[in-house]
Amino acid sequence: MRQSQLFTKIERNAPKDEATVNAQLLARAGFVSKLMSGVYSYLPLGLRTLNKIENIVREEMDAIGGQEISMPIIHPKSIWATTGGWDKIDVLFKVKSRTEKDYALGQSEEEVVTPLVMKYLNTYKDLPKAVYQINWKFRDELRSKSGLLRGVEFLMKDMYSFHETQEDFEKFYAVAKKAYLRIFERMGLVAKVTEASGGAFTEKISYEFMVLTDAGEDDILYCDACDFCVNVEIAKEKENEKCTRCGKGTLKKARAVEAGNVFDLGQKFAKDFDVTYADKDGKKQYPIMGCFGIGISRAMGVIVEKYNDKNGIIWPDSVAPFAVHLLSLNGANADPVYESLQKAGIQVLYDDRETSAGDKFATADLIGIPWRIVSSPKLGEGKLEVKRRNESESMIMTLDEVLTKIKK
Ligand SMILES: [Zn+2]
Repeated sequence: MRQSQLFTKIERNAPKDEATVNAQLLARAGFVSKLMSGVYSYLPLGLRTLNKIENIVREEMDAIGGQEISMPIIHPKSIWATTGGWDKIDVLFKVKSRTEKDYALGQSEEEVVTPLVMKYLNTYKDLPKAVYQINWKFRDELRSKSGLLRGVEFLMKDMYSFHETQEDFEKFYAVAKKAYLRIFERMGLVAKVTEASGGAFTEKISYEFMVLTDAGEDDILYCDACDFCVNVEIAKEKENEKCTRCGKGTLKKARAVEAGNVFDLGQKFAKDFDVTYADKDGKKQYPIMGCFGIGISRAMGVIVEKYNDKNGIIWPDSVAPFAVHLLSLNGANADPVYESLQKAGIQVLYDDRETSAGDKFATADLIGIPWRIVSSPKLGEGKLEVKRRNESESMIMTLDEVLTKIKK
C-alpha cells in the first residue's frame, strides 16, 4: 500500500484523554480512533493487525475441532431472564426499543448457543461438539480508561463445548489449554494460567490466562520454577513464599491482564433451557458445557503494552500490519523495489510521500513495522538499507539479498 494514499496520518502528540501506552500509541500511529470511552474505530493499519490476531485464533480453534459460526449480537430479554443474567450481570448492556421492548447486547452468548446447538444434538453419539464465533461484544462499563484493554465494545472469540461427562470436558480443556498457550506464543505473549477455583465468588469454575503487563488490572502470584499461578484476590499463598506445588520455586507477584478465560459451566445452561440428549440407555441427560474466551481487540492492546519504546510500537512479525515499511528518501524512485517485494508476496507499506527523511523515519518508528527498508541515491546503485525495528544496526543489501532475508 502506498502511504501517500493512506487516509490516516500520524499524530506527533498523544491524545490528552488517553492514559495508557496502548491507547496513546495506537491513536498516534493511526491504528484506532476513539469514538467515546471504550469504543474505537479500527483504521486501515489497525484492522490489518486485528485481522491477523483473529486469524491466529481461528487457525488454532479450527485445529482442535472448533466449528465457526456467527450469532446475533442483539438478544431478546427473555433468554437472559431465563438464566438469571438479566438481573445478575451488572455489565449486561440493555437496550430499549421504540416499542418499549427490552433487548440485551451480547457479552457472552451461552443464552443463544445452548438452545441453538442442542437443536441438533439428539443422542450421546452427537457429543462432544465445539462451536465458536469471533464477534463484537458489549459491556456496560462505568469506567473504561485502559484503551483496548477494557472496552465497552470489544472483539472476542468465544467457543462453547458440549460434553457427556465431566471427564470429557477436562480432556477437551487440556487440549484447548495447549491451543491457547500456542495462540499467545504466536502473538509474542507469554500467558500464565490460574487454575485455582474461583468458586467462592461465582457458581462457575474459571481458568484465567494471564499475560504479565504493568497495564493490567489484576495481581497474580506465579512460581518461577513451575507453572503454578494464582490470582492474588483468592490466593492463600504470599509473595516470596516457597511454591508448594513443586517445592523448588519461589512465588513472585506481578501485574497482569486477563487475555483469555475458560469457564466450566457444568449443566447450568442446559438445565435453564431444559435441553437434553438421550444417553446410551435412552435416558434424558443434560450435557456438560464449557466456555472458552479470548479477547482479540484486548490482545492487540496487550501486545502494544509489551512491545514499544520511546519512539513507538514494535510489532511482532506475526501481527504486524505489514512486513516491510519501504521508505524512499532524497527523491529516490523506489517503485521497482515496491513492486518486486509485492510480487514476492511480501506485504509492504510504501512511504512514497513527499516529506523529509526525518519525518519518514519518525513515522516508521511510531507505526512499528518489523522491517524498514530505505531506498536513497546516497546508498549507491542497487543498494538498500535494511533495519529491524527492534535493532539499532542497519545492513546494506541488494534487492535479491533483501528478498532472501525477509522470506526466510
Ligand atoms: Zn512451583
